[in-house]
Amino acid sequence: MKIDVALAVAWLDRFADAVDAHRDQLTQLDSAIGDGDHGSNMQRGCDAVRTALADAEPATVGAVLVKAGGTLISKVGGASGPLYGSALRAAGKALGDGESASAEQLVEALNAAIAALAKLGAAQPGDKTMLDAWTPAVAALGEAVAGGGGLPAAAEAAAEAAEQGAAATVPLQARKGRASYLGPRSIGHRDPGASSTALLFAALAEATRDAPGATKDAPGVTEDAPGVTEDAPGVTEDAPGVTEDAPGVTEDAPGAAG
Ligand SMILES: [Mg+2]
Repeated sequence: MKIDVALAVAWLDRFADAVDAHRDQLTQLDSAIGDGDHGSNMQRGCDAVRTALADAEPATVGAVLVKAGGTLISKVGGASGPLYGSALRAAGKALGDGESASAEQLVEALNAAIAALAKLGAAQPGDKTMLDAWTPAVAALGEAVAGGGGLPAAAEAAAEAAEQGAAATVPLQARKGRASYLGPRSIGHRDPGASSTALLFAALAEATRDAPGATKDAPGVTEDAPGVTEDAPGVTEDAPGVTEDAPGVTEDAPGAAG
């Protein structure tokens, strides 16, 4: 499965939806150890990305990410815009001019994004920043891709790793960013940037899973309820009657873990 322009746009669109849905939560997290603007900043930035991508209609997946990154840098105040923007722009530049990208190329590009984040933030994993979600997410993505898993499964692994990484920031003391001013009082709070990063990788998992041409995983290796899996052979989300909205086939169906 390739990452094409439509999938890259869908990824950022899902991210914008997730940021909308979690805006207040992100704001609360940032209020606890920052200045309380992360939710509104990210929402404004993601809205601007949506508009920019619709206007620009980039022709390559790299151009989508470069456009999104540049938009976040120019439209979002605070630290998060430049950080996310630099990350996405670095990823887009790493992808070059190919119209689409392979899963391996995506891994490489997202590692370039991590390098950009680490450089701009002068941060490393364990500093209680978004890197604490980005790093395990891209590592998990890379492992899954190297292991031959399809992109949807790899992205799901990345999403889980990002969420675990974000949760693991709670006991950390912040060493970078505004939260570091609090010293030990930053302990016990979940990092807002790591939390929005978990949304970014969850959005990638959603977008790849729902993309036309998404490969199905091995039977029996599903996260959903038996018999109602998206991964079962022949049961795609696009099949008539097996949509996300059909009763009993939702992600939130009782018994569906994940
Ligand atoms: Mg803030």
